Amino acid sequence: MDVKKSTCSSLWREVSACWSKLSNGVQWSIGNGRKARFWLDCWVAEGIFLQEVANDFIPQDWLHQTVDFFVTPSGDWNWSMFSYLIPEQYILLINAILPPHQSYDSDSVLWGSSPDGSFTLKSAYALIRKDFASDNATVWRSVWRWFGPFRVNSFLWLIIHGRLLTNVERCRRHLSSSSACQLCSYCDETTLHVLRDCPFTALVWNRVFQLSGKNYSAPDSLVIRDWIFPNLVDDTAVLDGVYWCSIFGLTCWALWKRRNFFVFRAKEQSAEEVVQHIFAWTKNHFIAVNSTAVAPSRPARSFTQVSWVSPRPSWITINTDGAYKSASCSASAGGLLQDSNAVDSRFLT
Ligand SMILES: [Zn+2]
Repeated sequence: MDVKKSTCSSLWREVSACWSKLSNGVQWSIGNGRKARFWLDCWVAEGIFLQEVANDFIPQDWLHQTVDFFVTPSGDWNWSMFSYLIPEQYILLINAILPPHQSYDSDSVLWGSSPDGSFTLKSAYALIRKDFASDNATVWRSVWRWFGPFRVNSFLWLIIHGRLLTNVERCRRHLSSSSACQLCSYCDETTLHVLRDCPFTALVWNRVFQLSGKNYSAPDSLVIRDWIFPNLVDDTAVLDGVYWCSIFGLTCWALWKRRNFFVFRAKEQSAEEVVQHIFAWTKNHFIAVNSTAVAPSRPARSFTQVSWVSPRPSWITINTDGAYKSASCSASAGGLLQDSNAVDSRFLT
């Protein structure tokens, strides 16, 4: 969006200035597939542009093709055309989308940053705030303002400081001889591995996303802060009004507790048990917070004597009343005119 006219309003000028950030929230709902561009537009999932995730060169003459170009004459996705260019996880997402058909309505634009697809200033603001991950002060503030049990605040603070005693960190401090993850034994146990990338951890996240109706939108960054910050500032209400950032923080904490139980006490918890704990904690915490919330104070009750007030000199007031009786279909009304001395009174009927 390019704005060069000097006559445009200041509001429009500001909207255009941040459009590059806001456009990440625009998502297409596929109908006949003739508007949304297959590689360049976001239509598979929130924040996913197939051009950015393609694992090979996209033929130049395909780049601007719309979605309906990649459908067979029989109405199925033409997998042989594009499946070799797209990673498996996005293939699964495409598979879950009904292929476009000429009998369907035109493709429509949705706001992907809200659960119902409608635009709200709050969700737009949250989307822009995600770009401030490089701002140290903002990151720390998001940790201390995180809404949930205080001990989890402290845990999040440790994560961002890189002070979680994972096996990699224990090795670095000469406290352990192995840096391997004891849950999967596949990889080094970094903070990102134990909280996000371990196969067991992925099971828990998938279930949490499923139950909360949240799309996984955080970048697959190798920097812990770039992964954790967008989630900590995401105050989308996802489950009975509970914020996503709260569920996210509690999930990280539950995963770390589960890891410690396994490593130090040889106790195993299934992914389903961990998820149950997460939602039980979340529910109990918010019930406790709401039950101890201070009720708004009511204004003090005052008594006012109601009586007739005489009008100013040379003015006349009129007081009226009326009644209606439905049984007899009769009605009556009357009034009283009075001046400031109430001496020149007379009734109207
Ligand atoms: Zn692992």
